[in-house]
Amino acid sequence: MALWKNQMPRGKRANAGRSRKKKEVESSNIWPEDFRCAVVISFDHDAESDQMRTAPEKIVPISKARYGSTVGLERIYRVLEDYSLPATFFVPGWVAENYEEDLKEIEGRGFEIAGHGYLHEKVSELRMEEERHVLEHCMQALRQRTKQKEIGYRAPWFDLSTRSLDILSELGYSYDSSLMQQDLPYFLTEPDNDASSKRKTMVELPVDWSLDDFPAFEVQRKSPREVREIWQAQFDALYAEGSFYNLCMHPDCIGRPARIEMFREFVKYVKSKPRVWFATAFEVAKWWRESHA
Ligand SMILES: [Zn+2]
Repeated sequence: MALWKNQMPRGKRANAGRSRKKKEVESSNIWPEDFRCAVVISFDHDAESDQMRTAPEKIVPISKARYGSTVGLERIYRVLEDYSLPATFFVPGWVAENYEEDLKEIEGRGFEIAGHGYLHEKVSELRMEEERHVLEHCMQALRQRTKQKEIGYRAPWFDLSTRSLDILSELGYSYDSSLMQQDLPYFLTEPDNDASSKRKTMVELPVDWSLDDFPAFEVQRKSPREVREIWQAQFDALYAEGSFYNLCMHPDCIGRPARIEMFREFVKYVKSKPRVWFATAFEVAKWWRESHA
């Protein structure tokens, strides 16, 4: 098994995982052109994949999960298109197979589609062969239904096993967005200086539970105003550092009326700031791979 940077103990390579100092960020070309901060707007389009795995007889949670497809997505498209924003949709393989119209719509509108398990599994609870099967099945479902050449990944529940990054890399996923070791993107494999080497580098686009709509709205039952406050404070701080803002939402959650209005207002605020690079997760990972290896 490859020794992944994110698994390294503190010590020899501990600096590799640390955020750059503010001064260094300000003075270096972290982002393309004249941008000072990168923002990824992402949605985990889970639909009822999790319920189909855990409780297929419970029709109320299933109906709630379906709200994302029946109502939420349209509202999301409206905001994204009103502000000309790119976005990435992470989709479980089962959803790709059972919501083909959504997939076509997402891709047809020019948004990115990436992987998100098959039935929204917690892979750390699976055996190795089961996990490999899940990740293969997910990749296959997306390859058959999208035109995208490169497929990224976000783990359901942000849950990875000690094997996941090796399997993702072997299967050809181009980046991961599930870990939390620092603010800026970072490499999960050592960039290889040998030009003749085929060794692949994989980029991590780190996430943060405070920028996930689901726990805030559905577990902690926060109001849109409270969530806006958290998201904006995080944005202001990361923007000041010239860093990376990775917002994770769910169509059945953010798609509710008062929440989508909050999202619209928040987007308006972020758009009012100069030199913000709005990009898909893939674009950020590609930039990082090509410019920071
Ligand atoms: Zn999910």
